[in-house]
Formats: sequence, structure tokens, C-alpha cells
Amino acid sequence: DLRTVKNFFKRNGLLTLSVISVITGCTLGFMLRGSQMSTQAKIYFSFPGELLMRMLKMLILPLITSSLMSGLSSMESKACCRMGVLTVTYYLWTTFIAVVVGIFLVIIIKPGVGTEMESNRLGGGPVMTSADALLDLIRNMVPSNLIEATFQQYKTDLIPILKVPTKTIQPNFVYVIPDDNDPKGRMVYLELTPPPDVIYKTSPGSSQQMNVLGIVIFSATMGLLLGRMGERGVPLINVCQCINECVMKIINAAVWYFPFGIIFLVAGKILDMQDPSTLGKKLGWYGVTVLTGLFVHGLVLLPLFYFLLTRKNPFSYIRGLLQALVIALATSSSSATLPITMKCLLENCHVDRQIARFVLPVGATINMDGTALYEAVAAIFIAQVNDYELDFGQLVTISITATAASIGAAGIPQAGLVTMVIVLTSVGLPPDDITLIVAIDWILDRFRTMINVLGDALAAGIIAHLCRKDFPLSTMHTHKDCTFDL
Ligand code: ASP
Repeated sequence: DLRTVKNFFKRNGLLTLSVISVITGCTLGFMLRGSQMSTQAKIYFSFPGELLMRMLKMLILPLITSSLMSGLSSMESKACCRMGVLTVTYYLWTTFIAVVVGIFLVIIIKPGVGTEMESNRLGGGPVMTSADALLDLIRNMVPSNLIEATFQQYKTDLIPILKVPTKTIQPNFVYVIPDDNDPKGRMVYLELTPPPDVIYKTSPGSSQQMNVLGIVIFSATMGLLLGRMGERGVPLINVCQCINECVMKIINAAVWYFPFGIIFLVAGKILDMQDPSTLGKKLGWYGVTVLTGLFVHGLVLLPLFYFLLTRKNPFSYIRGLLQALVIALATSSSSATLPITMKCLLENCHVDRQIARFVLPVGATINMDGTALYEAVAAIFIAQVNDYELDFGQLVTISITATAASIGAAGIPQAGLVTMVIVLTSVGLPPDDITLIVAIDWILDRFRTMINVLGDALAAGIIAHLCRKDFPLSTMHTHKDCTFDL
């Protein structure tokens, strides 16, 4: 009856609005595609979406630092250690399972086998090796300058460079063109008229992204030490708790802007999209393989683990996360989604605060099941296109490097595409062949980000259950008291 419908909207209002926004954004984007908008007009049009991204990114730094510092300061060393070990083990395990699912599906479906597909191999370009990537990961863990870490992601020299056709240029990427006068052999691509046919793309927005991993490690260490300082540490702990509360309040207010922002974020992306009819059958099957893998991992295996380990209904838990999943789909960044994931876990799923404050920020940086699955599928797909037989040893190498590459990928749009160079070079595949899959990467990125976020959130529920004896005073609610009024 009418009252039930009204109640439903009251409890799920924001979520419903967000879903409607995604649909409206898609429709609007497709309707305006024919209208030949100028680049300038597109920038104005995407502005509300850009604001949404900026708001989310603004919240990451205060959220991570205050969460980890106040969360870990109030924990016993033993409980902390247990939670840390469990979290990292669980993350590695699920990522590895995701890779195995991907490998299994791509070998069965064989999307790359068959008629020739044009490979855009252009040669040249510095390439990141597995050793470079590992060093880069460790380097990021120890930021040499904490202030710089808030806006720098990678050492620019090590960013692998992909060759891309100029028509696929996107606004948030750093592009470079080769320049003989530059000692590094490249120059940032700004406005070039006429643009060259091919330019080189580095990691998305690499020069402005935050080194989240470095900040997580530093804040966690600070939190642990603060808790051991007794009375003297209390003032700073109080400050952190205040900041944390304020950030959560800002998130609560900002979410009301999101449905509006999402429309333009999604529509703007669709306006820029390449014509889907030119994509070809193989790429289509490759997309289907990745999406099937993500579906199996996210909606079958992860919920199964959740059920086996906690004996609770995984789907009522996932229901509480829907808002975060919509934001992940719209932003394709698990770091940017972090504030909303935190909000959903605390308010809808009632996961213990201390656990969520640790498990989520760490997960958003190192646990990317969707990315790992996609990296494995993409590498094997490229091997199939090249008629390159992979033996069992090479499959094992792919599973290990794909896991490592997903840990190294930042939680920003299309970071997985860049770290995939590591997987390809480890088995002798040409890294330039990444260009084969660039065309549909942005859309797969959205779905793999959803699974990345889902993996982190389910992990928090599982760890909270496994560590419940360590936190006897915490209020662990059952799903029955879950409310979904976002
Ligand atoms: N966009 C993904 C994330 O933020 C990373 C990737 O797979 O590119 O989680």
C-alpha cells in the first residue's frame, strides 16, 4: 500500500536517488552524444561531476589520518597485532582466489582465440619491470616527505608509458609526447594544435594523486604509539576523534549533493566514450569474461566466505553497502569511495568502529580483488590474441604477478591498466599490447572498482566477527537492527 511505498522511500531515499541518477546520467549522455559538443562545453557540462570527485577526494586525507590514529590508539597491542595479521592474510587470500577465478574463466571462454585482431604495436617507450614496481610499492610505503605524499603518487620516472591514439584523450590523465630536447625524452602534453596522431599516456593524474599507502602506514604507526603514551597522548587522540566526527558529519551532508553530481559525472563520461560499435567481437568477449569473473567473485565467492566465516546473511550486509557500490560505479576510484564505504559500514552494517577504521583504509590501498582478476584475464587475453601458448609455470607467474600488481595499483581510475605492464613483462608479452584493451577499460574499471570496494567492506565484517572476543565492549549489532536510512 501507499504507506509501505512511502516507508521504503524514506529508508532508501538517497540510494534510490543515486540509482536514478546513474540511469539519468546514462540516458543524458547518450542523448547528447550526437550533439557535437565542443571540448569547452563538455568541461562546463561535467562541472557538477568534477565537484563531486573533488569533495570525495577532499575527505580522504582527514578521514584516513583521523580514523587510523584514533582507532589504533585505543587498541591493545595483542588485539591490534591479531587484527593486522588476520586482515592482511584475508586480503591476500581473497585476491589470489579472484585471480584463479579470472584465469579459469579466460581459459574456458577463450575470448582472444580466433581471427586476427589488429595490435597497435608501436615499439619503444620506457617500461616498468616487476622489480621497479616492487621498489615503487616499498618506496610509497616510506614517503620521504609527508606533505608531498598528500599529492604525489609515483616517482614520475618509473611510470610506464602507454601509447594511445589522440582521439582517446581524457581530461584527467597526464599525457606526454616524446621530445628529443628533454633529457628524460618526454614532455607533458598540454594543448597541441594539431595534436599528434599518437601520444603517450602515464598513470591517471599521476602528478596530483595522493600516496594513500604512505599515509596509511604513517598514521597507523602514529596511532599505535599514541595509545602507548598514556596521559600525554590523550589530547592528540581527542583531536583526532573530533576531526573524525566532523568528517563523518561532512560526509552526511555531502551525500545529498551526490545524486546531482552523479548525473553529470556519468553523462560526461559517456559523452567522451568511443563509439561502441567499432569495438569488435573479441573485445566484447573479453569484456564479458571480465564481467562474469567479477560477478562470480563478488556475488558468489565473497558472500560465501562471509557466510562460512560469520554464519550471517551476506546479502543483507551487502544491502547496507549499496550506496557505496553506486559511488564506486560512478567514480571508478576506491579511494574516493572510502568515505561513503565507511559511512555505510558504520551506519547500516554496524561494524565495530575500531575495526572499520583500520580494515577499510588498508583495504582501499592494498586489497583489489576486481583489479587482480581483471589483470589476469587481460594478460591471458593478450597472449591468446598473439597466439602465444602459456605453459603452467607461466600461468602461476601470472597469478602471482597479478596479485602483486593489484596490491601496487592505487585506488584511482584505471590504475590497474598501468600496473598491468608488470604482469605482461613477467611472461614475455609485449607491454604495448595494452592498447588492445584500452578502449573498454574505463567501463570495466567501474565494475572492478565496485568489487574492490565490496571486498574491503565484506572483509571488515568478517574481521569484526573473528576479532569479536578482542573487543568485548564494542557494540556489535545484528543485522536485524540494521536501518538503511542513508
Ligand atoms: N579503479 C580501481 C580502484 O580504484 C583500480 C583499477 O583497477 O584501476 O579500485
